[in-house]
Amino acid sequence: PFHKSKGQHILKNPLLVDSIVQKAGIKSTDVILEIGPGTGNLTKKLLEAGKSVVAVELDPRMVLELQRRFQGTPFSNQLKVIQGDVLKCDLPYFDICVANIPYQISSPLTFKLLSHRPLFRCAVIMFQREFAMRLVAQPGDTLYCRLSVNTQLLARVNHLLKVGRNNFRPPPKVDSSLVRIEPRRPLPPVNFKEWDGLVRICFNRKNKTLGSLFRQKTVLSLLEKNYKTLQALQLTPDGFSNDAEMASCVSALGDGLGDLNMDSEDVKDDDEMEMDDGDTKTSVFKDKVLAILKQGGFEEKRSSKLSQGDFMHLLSLFNKSGIHFS
Ligand code: SAM
Repeated sequence: PFHKSKGQHILKNPLLVDSIVQKAGIKSTDVILEIGPGTGNLTKKLLEAGKSVVAVELDPRMVLELQRRFQGTPFSNQLKVIQGDVLKCDLPYFDICVANIPYQISSPLTFKLLSHRPLFRCAVIMFQREFAMRLVAQPGDTLYCRLSVNTQLLARVNHLLKVGRNNFRPPPKVDSSLVRIEPRRPLPPVNFKEWDGLVRICFNRKNKTLGSLFRQKTVLSLLEKNYKTLQALQLTPDGFSNDAEMASCVSALGDGLGDLNMDSEDVKDDDEMEMDDGDTKTSVFKDKVLAILKQGGFEEKRSSKLSQGDFMHLLSLFNKSGIHFS
């Protein structure tokens, strides 16, 4: 009866459901967003703990089952079910999100939540273990990557609980982890497009030195093109003119991250890397870029070891010299 393609793995351990609800720190006044309620095992405990639950479920059969389960109970008017794809629908107001999600939507969903306004208090979500470890990874950890850096720019992320595959029916092929995501308030004063432009370059090969990454012809010519365009227009990329623009930039931080071990970064062979070919046309600009790296002491550093603060510092050095990534 369960659809693998929809990531349907039902929580069958009631103690685990209790522990998820307890760790979420739900208040009796909370409007809770649940994604993928399935047959409603988690939904029931959420209804007991909060003021109301809005549940978004893709599968119409599950929606029916859920409605049937709570029909005629005191919970029925606390529950609103939206049938549809959570990535495509407009999310309603919520204080807190608690969900055991289908793992194939992990990164777009994370960034969709983080772009939602007004900001929620926190989200407590079940992810595939490896994805969870990437979310919380710190500089120097093996799994530290663009996903870690972009998520942690917008939120504090904590690992709450390791969850084995046998807590689900049918059991998935991978283990899981419960993670807490708490949006930062205020958000750091960073232009997210600029940030992501820099971070994409840096994590294209996270174990290469920045010196060698920024000597690549493709990188230099992109940066030089931006530089010339902005100089000609006497412009600098500015902030957001409205919330919609901001939201689309935040969602873009999740683009191309992949979910189930599909991150493309660092899987390419080093030979594929386009090395400095000594092209003299770009040498003046190249010297400018390398001087900035030297000035900040970044030339010999590798992204795998750089903190949020390091990336912010590097971005501001580039921007101050008129070099932009978007
Ligand atoms: N919450 C239930 C539980 O813990 O027992 C079920 C969790 S199951 C891992 C994921 C649920 O998400 C399934 O019910 C599936 O139909 C639903 N789902 C899959 N893709 C979805 C999407 N794009 N939007 C909303 N729900 C989705």
